[in-house]
Amino acid sequence: MAKQTSKKKPVKGAAPLPSSAPEKHVRPSWDEYFIEIMHAAAKRATCDRGRSGSVIAKDRQVLATGYVGSPPGQPHCDEVGHEMHKVINDDGVISEHCIRTIHAEQNVLMQAAKGGVSVEGATLYCQMTPCYVCAKLIVAAGIKRVVSFRDYQRGEKSKALFAKAGVQYDLVHSDTERY
Ligand SMILES: [Zn+2]
Ligand SMILES: [Zn+2]
Repeated sequence: MAKQTSKKKPVKGAAPLPSSAPEKHVRPSWDEYFIEIMHAAAKRATCDRGRSGSVIAKDRQVLATGYVGSPPGQPHCDEVGHEMHKVINDDGVISEHCIRTIHAEQNVLMQAAKGGVSVEGATLYCQMTPCYVCAKLIVAAGIKRVVSFRDYQRGEKSKALFAKAGVQYDLVHSDTERY
């Protein structure tokens, strides 16, 4: 994600900086900035099977934040345990998922809806490639770019949908999040 920054030409006749000068502060890129906020939101998550966060931003401004959690006022996994659900995947493998919580990507969309904020044309930042349900909601909400911090081992359908729907999908780290 490192961006190539163009170095400014030194001003003619300017004295060189003494070697003891403190290193110049490097500002994070906009993607890095929103990902940091996404990680901060994730700390509020209430299910230890995946403490994810999500941020929706447009025109360099945060529109909404969200994290994995039960519907407001409902008991949390951290207090009452998970609500497990078995799923038979396309490859025949049975996997178990906790369905007590709303995914971070759904919660960030709901927060925008609750406040009447349009997310059309915005970018959604998330911990890992969204699941297929979240991917469909993201497309329906008019999100135009998705930035995932890590990949998800069952994220192929979501990526295919993004490609078909014209949603730009960017992956920060190529390693896969096991979930
Ligand atoms: Zn849970
Ligand atoms: Zn999801």
